[in-house]
Amino acid sequence: MKAMILSGCGLLSVQPRPLSLVDIDTPKPTDNELLIRVSACGVCHTELDEIEGRLTPPHLPVILGHQVVGRVAECGKNVQRFRTDERVGVGWIYHSNGLPDENLSPQFAGTGYDVNGGYAEFMTVPETYAAQIPDNLTDTQAAPLMCAGAIGYRAIRLTGMRDGDPLGLMGFGGSGHLVLPTAKHLFPNSSVYVFTRGRSGQQFARDLGADWAGDIDSTPPETVQAIIDTTPAWKPVVESLKKLRHGGRLVINAIRKEEEEDKHELLNLSYHEHLWMEREIKSVANLTHADIVEFLPLAALIPLRPEVTTYRLDQANEALCDLRFGRIKGAKVLVMETIT
Ligand SMILES: [Zn+2]
Repeated sequence: MKAMILSGCGLLSVQPRPLSLVDIDTPKPTDNELLIRVSACGVCHTELDEIEGRLTPPHLPVILGHQVVGRVAECGKNVQRFRTDERVGVGWIYHSNGLPDENLSPQFAGTGYDVNGGYAEFMTVPETYAAQIPDNLTDTQAAPLMCAGAIGYRAIRLTGMRDGDPLGLMGFGGSGHLVLPTAKHLFPNSSVYVFTRGRSGQQFARDLGADWAGDIDSTPPETVQAIIDTTPAWKPVVESLKKLRHGGRLVINAIRKEEEEDKHELLNLSYHEHLWMEREIKSVANLTHADIVEFLPLAALIPLRPEVTTYRLDQANEALCDLRFGRIKGAKVLVMETIT
């Protein structure tokens, strides 16, 4: 099979073609695994972290990609829940202990990180961690939902908010624009306020149903019960806490915060202004299989339709550079059928 492999880490600004196209043996599913013929695989910021060495994969070479959609090509002999040709998806969780907090377990294995992922024509996955894709989502629409969408859903759950509670979204990129319609669907009586830089981003938020949009340091019409922060910076943390109601919760949905850029902003943290009165901070780590299984039918029902730009498998380096340097808006998805 054809695959794009990562053999060494480095900055994309120095080495803009970190992945190589190779022809390798198609993996064989074990007794409890599915072999998936991949049709689409989303390109995620986490892959940039893997390539640039901020989240170095434990073994190299590795095949990246954890927003995978395809069809079952072969079932291991103990597989019970899936049949050949069924459409399935795989997200960041490749394997864990199956408990409700499996996202926090040392047994957690990440797709396209600990094990080979979806930048390839085929991949294997334990059947327990494959999810059915609803019929009314296309392969390319479903792919970005497997990570940004499903983790956004987890972040909404972790706010603990109830219908009618006002919600803030700090940052409005690939995740935020999926969280907004999801939150509006789950909590129809809640106002959603979006904090993002730039007029065009703010207008985009209003077009998608935000009740208000402004800069990250501006004051919303009311204080909010919860804020989901999807930015890589520290200033938004301080700004978010300022906008919370007493007893409110800030949920940080970012794998990492830039350590260098603006960490000094934390010196502006005032106990009385930002934390006093039982305001909380909670992070989101990974996701569980249940998050994906609950989220996909919800996404189909809403319906969520991510804006997608497609690339061939052998154009994965271009897709990664477009994501890294912000050249093309919307989710980037590799599509396998078109490779020659
Ligand atoms: Zn991801």
